[in-house]
Amino acid sequence: MKALQYPAVGAAPVVVDVPDPEPGPGQVLLKVTAAGVCHSDIAVMSMPAAALRFPLPLTLGHEGAGTVAALGDGATGFAIGDSVAVYGPWGCGMCHMCAQGKENYCLRAAELQIFPPGLGAPGAIAQYLLVDSVRHLVPLGDLDPVRNVPLTDAGLTPYHAIKASLPKLVGGSTAVVIGTGGLGHVAIQLLRALSPSRVVALDVAPEKLELAREVGAHEALMSDETAAATVKELTRGRGAEAVFDFVGAPPTVALASACAGVESDVTIVGIGGGSAQVGFGVTPYDAAFRAPYWGSRAELVEVLDLARDGDVSVHVETYSLAEAPKAYERLHAGQVRGRAVILP
Ligand code: NAD
Ligand code: ZN
Ligand code: ZN
Repeated sequence: MKALQYPAVGAAPVVVDVPDPEPGPGQVLLKVTAAGVCHSDIAVMSMPAAALRFPLPLTLGHEGAGTVAALGDGATGFAIGDSVAVYGPWGCGMCHMCAQGKENYCLRAAELQIFPPGLGAPGAIAQYLLVDSVRHLVPLGDLDPVRNVPLTDAGLTPYHAIKASLPKLVGGSTAVVIGTGGLGHVAIQLLRALSPSRVVALDVAPEKLELAREVGAHEALMSDETAAATVKELTRGRGAEAVFDFVGAPPTVALASACAGVESDVTIVGIGGGSAQVGFGVTPYDAAFRAPYWGSRAELVEVLDLARDGDVSVHVETYSLAEAPKAYERLHAGQVRGRAVILP
């Protein structure tokens, strides 16, 4: 089969021929219908060899959807042809976190060398994808896999982040979204669907700000040195009740902190190498700083249900497998509007 691989440290991703995978006991083979392209892949491809925890080459793609092509011995509950989304943050299934469906926080994944598809295990930007357990499949039913495959990460990750802050997003509150790309443009829609808060979006690109307004942001502002002051003005001097940083770079983490009010949540989702200074007198009283990762299996079911009800709709650009390297180039250049999805 054909697959998009990151071949070696520093090299560009390439389409290659690899052996067709076959499902072992308990595993499921999917014929991939759609696979999303995430900025985290670019972060992985920017890592030095010493920081990589898995060997190369790596088949990319941690947002996957497909139809069931074959079931390994003992894999039950799905039929050939079923349309499914893949829950990506695979865990051991047994530890205290996994027992709660929070495989994203599996306590034993590192020790057992369990990696998500596309982030260590062979990923979804390929004609076929091997899924380690039926536990990691969620039925899509009638949902369009192409428009909804990004929800497995670009939907699930902001959903998990936002859900924890909902008690603070009361009437009259403000939520700030920094970075309105793949995750951010879904975050805006989730905030509008789940809370009465006023949503202020910040980005560095005018076309991203236009997308932010289109998907429901009340305000869309340039993310520059004046942005924090504008957010303070918009919140009558209070600062925001919740700030979600989908860039996570040093300037955006500083901006996130500067936009935050007393008793706010500052949630750093982006993995841009930034970190916050937290302490008495440094941060607003009782502000909580978090850096969450992906989301739980139950939350993926919830996000897909929101899509079914029409509360979130991902803006997608589609590419063939042969064009997949171009999708990564465009993402790297900040040119993707919404999410790039590969149709292998
Ligand atoms: P993306 O490239 O689609 O979107 C990033 C957006 O940020 C773009 O619109 C870009 O214009 C904007 N941006 C860049 N610099 C900015 C600045 N200084 N101020 C404001 N906006 C700025 O990326 P994505 O796929 O949505 O991923 C977003 C981040 O989240 C990445 O760092 C990714 O690795 C990370 N991520 C984290 C998790 C997690 O579980 N924590 C999961 C998925 C992705
Ligand atoms: Zn991702
Ligand atoms: Zn576990």
